[in-house]
Amino acid sequence: MIILMGLAGSGKSTQGKMLADETGRVWLSAGQVLRETGQFDEIMKQGVLVDDMLTVKLMAQKMAEVVRSGRDAILDGFPRDVEQAEWIAENIASVIKLIVRINVPKDELVRRLELRGRADDLDRGAIEKRFQIVEQNIYSVCEILKAKGVAIRDIDGTGTPEEVYERLKAVVDEIEGAERMEMTDIVEDSGAVER
Ligand code: AMP
Repeated sequence: MIILMGLAGSGKSTQGKMLADETGRVWLSAGQVLRETGQFDEIMKQGVLVDDMLTVKLMAQKMAEVVRSGRDAILDGFPRDVEQAEWIAENIASVIKLIVRINVPKDELVRRLELRGRADDLDRGAIEKRFQIVEQNIYSVCEILKAKGVAIRDIDGTGTPEEVYERLKAVVDEIEGAERMEMTDIVEDSGAVER
């Protein structure tokens, strides 16, 4: 699985959907999964996080469905804090291949959110709060999963969606290539393969 991280408006969802469409993976957005339940509208409008264990349960259920169907997932907005990252580290770290951080300057993010105009994007105070929460958490989440051997890459999230996608695809291809090489090495070094 691939985790996409970035502040609100960084293009995680756009990129996640593009990567899903092109590679046959399934895009799983925590924000969307939570929004679909219709139970957390007030919390989401305030820009604070929904309860960790509820979120983990909902996402674990969705991930199980994806894996059962034989596909791979792109996680968007999950994990979002230390508790969620620790749950991943303890339970499913070995299936997380890559974290991609999408970086966009804050003034550009505010401009994008104003254009998007979603209900929970309109309040400037709520936007700032979300930036603050996510920024605090991205670093800790990455440290926790880096300690489990998960690869982390940063990409520049400015420019057109197509330009950002090129950068995203390049890091995904890099990690998949490295994984293939590692598998090849293991098999060839097994001692039973003639070179
Ligand atoms: P997003 O669609 O990623 O901008 O998320 C919208 C809102 O959904 C956030 O402000 C939170 O209230 C909630 N949310 C999204 N992801 C999570 C998560 N992993 N854990 C808890 N709450 C979340």
